[in-house]
Amino acid sequence: MGQVLGIIGGGQLGMMLTEAAKKFPSQISEVIVLDPTEECPASKVGAKQIIADFKDKDAIIELASKSDILTYEIESGDSEVLKTIESKTKINPSPHTLEIIQDKLVQKTFLAKNQLPVVEFVDIESLEDLKEKIKKFGFPSLLKTCKYAYDGRGNFKINSEQDLILGFEQFSGQTLMLEKFIDFKMEVSVIAARNTKGDIATYPVVENIHEENILRMTIAPARVSEKVAKKAEEVAKKTMDVLRGAGVFGIEMFVTKNDEILINEIAPRVHNSGHHTLQSSKTSQFEQHLRAILGLELGDTKLVHPAIMYNLLGPKNFQGAYKPVIVKSQEGIFLKMYGKKESKPKRKLGHLNAIDIKNTENIDGLLKIINKIKKSIVIEPIS
Ligand code: ATP
Ligand code: MG
Repeated sequence: MGQVLGIIGGGQLGMMLTEAAKKFPSQISEVIVLDPTEECPASKVGAKQIIADFKDKDAIIELASKSDILTYEIESGDSEVLKTIESKTKINPSPHTLEIIQDKLVQKTFLAKNQLPVVEFVDIESLEDLKEKIKKFGFPSLLKTCKYAYDGRGNFKINSEQDLILGFEQFSGQTLMLEKFIDFKMEVSVIAARNTKGDIATYPVVENIHEENILRMTIAPARVSEKVAKKAEEVAKKTMDVLRGAGVFGIEMFVTKNDEILINEIAPRVHNSGHHTLQSSKTSQFEQHLRAILGLELGDTKLVHPAIMYNLLGPKNFQGAYKPVIVKSQEGIFLKMYGKKESKPKRKLGHLNAIDIKNTENIDGLLKIINKIKKSIVIEPIS
């Protein structure tokens, strides 16, 4: 008999996990997600839904009581509540791993202690403390909230003395840290998996292009030397070794101008920069996550086809219902919409994968294809 899989979060990641679960009919009989949005993306592809906030303790307990195995697609679940139910329900990655990752200061301290390369950082306790510690890194530096940040919303770049007060006030009441600002050559990430038996597998390193702090495009493989690629994958493997949680993790890194690798942050879940694996690899990151938490053999992570993933974001000027997005069918182009009813500025509505099916294009060729198609995609209001 299959098990019931509970997922905290039923957005696009929960949706693609729900779809992947259909590959395991004898292991997973049902998927239930916890999500505050009615008719969330995962519910549209067959998951049952508990409608409640991600942090609603009773709802988490209800989800756990209905599930044999629990996982999450967001990192803001309540790790304290999860710890209390750990003895009754299998939770992967473990609440302990989640707790380390949830707080950027705890996460970076943990990584540094384990000799993993991280961006230089210090904790910030007060405005006075900030004024003193900024001397260590100089301008610009990056002030970050330690918890609940996403899409760069918890980051404030400090360019001058005046910014010290502005930044500090913007995040008043939150725990803070300060980081050296890295003038990096490239942002990359490695999607890594660890199953409950302890086996580790990593996907090839990919290149991430952000616009206004949101991931816009992922290029697989990253345009880096073999040496840099190897270094990034080694850092990812070692991270998985020390982190000990089961599941798929997205490990975001910077490649510095000297070709050093520095970890920026870890996501304890499937990651936007792994969406290309849906068509570029034998095993998608979603299938891999399920394999990892079910204790199955990890799948093949080889990149079979070079690929570019392009995020479709809600336009800045409107919020509301929008017309369906249509892309002319073309070999190697895969459009995935997440079924979100409303567009909001910069909301992730879907993604487009351009896959070099015949392995005859190079990355420049794929970039040209993406640039052409993206012009034909317009997210228009329904009037
Ligand atoms: P996400 O955007 O992944 O949801 P987040 O809001 O938690 O994450 P970070 O990943 O810490 O924020 O930072 C967002 C972006 O800001 C990074 O992808 C990177 O472009 C930039 N950034 C973060 N830290 C630094 C740094 N120390 N130096 C330079 N740029 C940085
Ligand atoms: Mg990030």
